Amino acid sequence: MSEHVHDAIVVGAGFGGMGAAIQLRRLGYDDLVILERESDLGGTWHVNRYPGLAVDIPSSTYSYSFAPNPHWTRLFAPGAELKKYAEHVADTYDLRRHMRFEAVVEQAHWDDASQTWTVALADGSTSVARFLLTATGFLSQPKLPDIAGIDSFAGDVVHTTRWDDDVELAGRRVGIIGTGATAVQLIPELAKVADDLTVYQRTPIWVSAKPDLPVPRVVRRAFAAVPLTQRAVRLGGTAILEAMMVSAVLHYDQVPVVNAVAERACRAHLRRQVKDPELRRKLTPDYTFGCKRPTFSNTYYPTFTRPHVHLETDPIDHVDGTGIVTRDAGGQERRTELDVLVLATGFDLWEANFPAIRVVGRGGLDLGRWWRERRFQAYEGIAVPGFPNFISLNSPYSYSGLSYFTTIESQMRHMDRLLGELQRRDAGTFEVSEQANAQFLEDMTAKVEHSIFTLGSCASANSYYFNQHGEATLLRPTSTLNAYRAASSFPLDDYAFA
Ligand code: NAP
Repeated sequence: MSEHVHDAIVVGAGFGGMGAAIQLRRLGYDDLVILERESDLGGTWHVNRYPGLAVDIPSSTYSYSFAPNPHWTRLFAPGAELKKYAEHVADTYDLRRHMRFEAVVEQAHWDDASQTWTVALADGSTSVARFLLTATGFLSQPKLPDIAGIDSFAGDVVHTTRWDDDVELAGRRVGIIGTGATAVQLIPELAKVADDLTVYQRTPIWVSAKPDLPVPRVVRRAFAAVPLTQRAVRLGGTAILEAMMVSAVLHYDQVPVVNAVAERACRAHLRRQVKDPELRRKLTPDYTFGCKRPTFSNTYYPTFTRPHVHLETDPIDHVDGTGIVTRDAGGQERRTELDVLVLATGFDLWEANFPAIRVVGRGGLDLGRWWRERRFQAYEGIAVPGFPNFISLNSPYSYSGLSYFTTIESQMRHMDRLLGELQRRDAGTFEVSEQANAQFLEDMTAKVEHSIFTLGSCASANSYYFNQHGEATLLRPTSTLNAYRAASSFPLDDYAFA
């Protein structure tokens, strides 16, 4: 008996996958399967549960424009509210009935004869569909540090994406590796409970003051009663983020002063909060603001002035059963005894995540191999030649703007135009042309030349915006307005419909 052919399989039940499913439903596709490796929906906001977790884009902007949430309690909502919002959207758009949890997808392959995608899961089952959409996220493959001896540590080890509330922190000696945006949120919380906290910093991060405020009840009521008011706030937030992105990142060649001003603001913030010049020196980055995702916090810097918190900047030499050993420039070793080791070591974007599952297209073409042999690329950050009926939502050059929701909604527009045309032509398949893809890559490569990634001093930033070849192929180097316009008006001839 041949297997049932669904309209589409969406891999990932985070905000990206849910946006894609909402768009598919709008286009009339109702036979959907959303496969999610975790035990529940929400993606990042299901997986991340560490203390201090909050969104770092204003919440009215970090949400779907078509599903405003008047209930955010703070300008930058805590993580639990994001998870609740994801659940609310899934219920409102009746997406849960499509979702299968703990469904670990291993690979997908295109079959030319049946014009379908077959997806193979780790449990040995398969699912078949006309369309395959991968919404596997950017920051979804936790990176475990490759440090000698780390497996021999006998105390508790926890990565921030696998937070375990049962790990006792109170009264214990805690070490945390990493000082990215996650650590900036977590370190002040750890310091509140740990007896002793050592922070292992390899690369400092630019941190500015956080203008965080509770949203007064009267404002929330106004947002609920007159949604237009929240739309106006959203528009304001979007405009500010857009101005920051365009000036500080994309057109660094024209207005480097924006980055210089931002750097000065971060330095002033640090000066206000830390009096010790040596500590300040250690906490100050030596790369241009914007090379790496900056963050904000009012509590991060002061944490290092507390007597039981230590900033360790000597490189880690190895870990053993009871602690971490560092080695300074003169070869001198220092060991710190620890009970708990927290890994705030981020995510593997370029090796493990592009793509997150094995995808095999026409004629056995392997997407991961193709990207590595031919450079990371995807037409409009969404489609790849040789991969018919495939929409890759987390592709090179797909991330547009600062809020992930601008990316999601511009990709929903692209899907609307592309699949709408497929339906109008009564065609069975779409596939982007080699030429359109090559032209897009050429445009993006040229645009990156004007950005901070080419012209800033980024070498020491260790930024995940750069792939393993040193190319900044994560962010789409255009304004979000350009991305929206392109999604609404790309030449339909860029695709072959059959
Ligand atoms: P990250 O920015 O990649 O930071 C990882 C940290 O671990 C870096 O300081 C890195 O040092 C360090 N590290 C990794 N391997 C190491 C090793 N072997 N030895 C020593 N140090 C090591 O990851 P993240 O902090 O999880 O943040 C990732 C992204 O998530 C952020 O940029 C942001 O986009 C997002 N995020 C968002 C929110 C929010 O919205 N609320 C909160 C948290 C995170 P190097 O820099 O030297 O590599």
